[in-house]
Amino acid sequence: MWTARYKRQAKGKLKRLIYDIVLLSLVQEVTSMPFDLKRILGDFVAIFFPRECACCGCVLRYQEKFICIACDFHLPYTNFHEYSDNDTARQLWGKVPVEEACSFLILQKESRVERLIYQIKYNNQPLLAEYFGFQYGLKLLDSASYQHLDAIIPIPLHPGKLRKRGYNQSSYFGRGLSRAMGIPLQEDALIRKKATITQTGQDRLSRYENVEDVFACEHMPALYGKHILLVDDVLTTGATIVSAALAIQQAWACKVSVATLARA
Ligand SMILES: [Zn+2]
Repeated sequence: MWTARYKRQAKGKLKRLIYDIVLLSLVQEVTSMPFDLKRILGDFVAIFFPRECACCGCVLRYQEKFICIACDFHLPYTNFHEYSDNDTARQLWGKVPVEEACSFLILQKESRVERLIYQIKYNNQPLLAEYFGFQYGLKLLDSASYQHLDAIIPIPLHPGKLRKRGYNQSSYFGRGLSRAMGIPLQEDALIRKKATITQTGQDRLSRYENVEDVFACEHMPALYGKHILLVDDVLTTGATIVSAALAIQQAWACKVSVATLARA
């Protein structure tokens, strides 16, 4: 079963690599072409290297990026950025003081969002996270609550996990947000010292003690007293976000807001 999965992943990677090389080699020609020719060329390349929707696997049309229009229409967007009293903010209440908190999508079992997260985390598609970060950034720009941010900091992976996966999906989500909002991304400001947080069977006090030492902050005077947007891929128990936010507040006396791609 594992072998089949690795074969499938390797095949996917090879296909994307060839697709990228073909596109790169053509880019010089394409940029000077009229729009119709670009579309025709795009359709021609797609015959041999069809791009697939990350949610349903259907072949994408020229103007579709990463997901098809039908899946985009059916994705459970939360609109949490439009009101402060939302489920993501409530999940952090009493655990850590945050200015604002929001999640872009609702994650449910065997759903389109679950397939999206799988593609991002386990199928070497970090650009999908960046794409959704960019889309969310455009929405946050319209919200009065997210107008005074100074920096975006992604939840880091433990170095061992980063080596294994090759990328940090939360960084890519942060990159998209950063591009859309024009706010600098600080990828190396926060450091993860422990790989995972195990909390099962612990009482409330133990949980707080347990998450205390997971993150460390670099000495960065430029971030002192600033308003940080802390970003992660999926909010589940909230323990990771709480731990990171507390570390940031202690180290830099910052205000913290939170944005995640999805919430379970
Ligand atoms: Zn689709």
